[in-house]
Amino acid sequence: MSETKPPIIWLNVMIFTLTFLVAAIGAPVYAYLVGFDWQQGLMLLAAFTYCGMSITAGYHRLWSHKAYEANAVVRFIFAIGGAFALQNSILHWSSDHRIHHRHVDNNDVDPYSAKRGFFYSHIGWMLREYQSHRYTDYSNCRDLQKDKIVMWQHKYYVPLAIVTNFGIPLLFGLWHGDVWGALLLVGVVRLVLSHHTTFFINSLAHIWGEQPYTDKNTARDNGFLAFLTFGEGYHNYHHIFENDYRNGIRWWQFDPTKWLIRTCAWLGLASNLRTCPEDKIEKAKATMMLKRIQNRLNQGPDQSAMLHRVEAEYEVLIQKISEYYATKKQMLEARKKELREQYENLEFVQHYQEVKAKLEQQRRSWKLLTSQYA
Ligand SMILES: [Zn+2]
Ligand SMILES: [Zn+2]
Repeated sequence: MSETKPPIIWLNVMIFTLTFLVAAIGAPVYAYLVGFDWQQGLMLLAAFTYCGMSITAGYHRLWSHKAYEANAVVRFIFAIGGAFALQNSILHWSSDHRIHHRHVDNNDVDPYSAKRGFFYSHIGWMLREYQSHRYTDYSNCRDLQKDKIVMWQHKYYVPLAIVTNFGIPLLFGLWHGDVWGALLLVGVVRLVLSHHTTFFINSLAHIWGEQPYTDKNTARDNGFLAFLTFGEGYHNYHHIFENDYRNGIRWWQFDPTKWLIRTCAWLGLASNLRTCPEDKIEKAKATMMLKRIQNRLNQGPDQSAMLHRVEAEYEVLIQKISEYYATKKQMLEARKKELREQYENLEFVQHYQEVKAKLEQQRRSWKLLTSQYA
């Protein structure tokens, strides 16, 4: 089966190859011959963080998914950082990304479908004109076309990318006293690290990790990748609840992007942070576990008794989850509206505590029952 491949995009091939070679060979040689100091190291980290978070908090969660709203100053800072990260304009990136979510793993439509293999989803998709048919079609981003900062960045993307990628390292180098070292470390090494860690989300985060919420697509949760990508490694959760401003939903999960967004909201720079209702999250997880157990038990020798038991426990769990969160909602509403009589009504509070205790008990027995299949 021979399929003619689309033409190579030489500009991209050159950029990715040259920057990679300079970072992999040039930087260590320079480190050996001249050396880098802690100020340069710190600036590398700062610039890497600025690029990375402009993509995660800006391009990804703000613009692609509308998981929150941010004021113009924040949007401007992310727009500049996105050009510095050299990952195309906000408009183009978001358009690709919305298609990725909508048609995930569909080799014909998903721009970086993981089913086409690691190399393709990591970088290959940008090396040939696979997407040229829709380079100017941004119809899935009409909302973003109303954002003046998005359109300004799209129009001036190339000059902005050049100015940031040469200007920022150059200015730092002049201040610090080692221009070549700065261009190498803050310019090239930072760019390569920023590129490949982001690319890991399209490649590795669809290959390596757990699927606690859904197996309907290849996306995976991976704490190690979250560490490299400012929290984006919780990709299984993200693909099922894409409008949540968090990717790592537990307080202990490493998601600096979530912390940044929350800090911005606290400072009055961001608002309308969207989260998925907790009952939906818990139900998704239980349903995935049930599905996994059903698949397992259906394969081996007759296990119908065990299967029935698991299914029955699952039904009870789902019912208890619904009951608890509904009661909790009533409770919070009563508190908000200051329905003092209801809120202070002992019976109501007692009822809430009972419902809560029953759910906790059911969670425990579900965990015990399913732990051998986890
Ligand atoms: Zn994905
Ligand atoms: Zn996404």
